[in-house]
Amino acid sequence: MAEASDSSLFGRWRSALGLAAGAPAQPTSAHAQPAQQPAPAKAPEAAPPAEPQAPAPGTPRTDADAAKHRRCERFKGKLLSSSAMVKFMMKELDKSGCPFVPEHFKCLPCGPSYSGGFAPEYGIVLCEDQIIDKSHLGDTMVHELVHAYDFCTVKLNFNSCANHACTEIRAAMLSGECRFSRELLRGHPGFSKHFQECVRRRAILSLKQKPLCRDSAEEAVRGVWESCFADTAPFDEIV
Ligand SMILES: [Zn+2]
Repeated sequence: MAEASDSSLFGRWRSALGLAAGAPAQPTSAHAQPAQQPAPAKAPEAAPPAEPQAPAPGTPRTDADAAKHRRCERFKGKLLSSSAMVKFMMKELDKSGCPFVPEHFKCLPCGPSYSGGFAPEYGIVLCEDQIIDKSHLGDTMVHELVHAYDFCTVKLNFNSCANHACTEIRAAMLSGECRFSRELLRGHPGFSKHFQECVRRRAILSLKQKPLCRDSAEEAVRGVWESCFADTAPFDEIV
């Protein structure tokens, strides 16, 4: 794909965004660990998905940038064909009348603070320059698919901090960010205190990325916590 069209697409996507200001990537270099490490009880925490920022105009694409793009596309293809969570969310979106196709996922450079984003007109951006490993990209895809699902099935108003807090709680809960999704698929939801704290923290981080909600993020998450943390749709159908 031509770089020019990527850039203009990104610009249009970015300007259309206004809504899915996702989570900021945490400064997690200390947490980031190699993909080969098994995920034990204390799994390394990947950066939460978030609203990407446009690259600086005229920034030249280097060979390293091109390699990151190819890596993102390769991981994306593998996850679309083999990730149970991604496939399940895609199927649920289809059933809900909002079919997603692979072309709706776009690998683009985002800058240092984000790992993904969703805008209804353009789909899901995967930040090719921020991918830690395939598992992290899978978490990002599911996180953004939860936003897409909520946008499809509920009249979400992304200009409402309460609405946005709810979908961020659900995205943090249902993606692998807090290592809950695998338990859900096994029918063993692990509502541990640690898990709740993880979801709460990441939802607040996401919401703080949105200027409108920056100062009220904690309050907004607290206000909708009980109802949104209890809402595991579409997963309750398979447990
Ligand atoms: Zn988000």
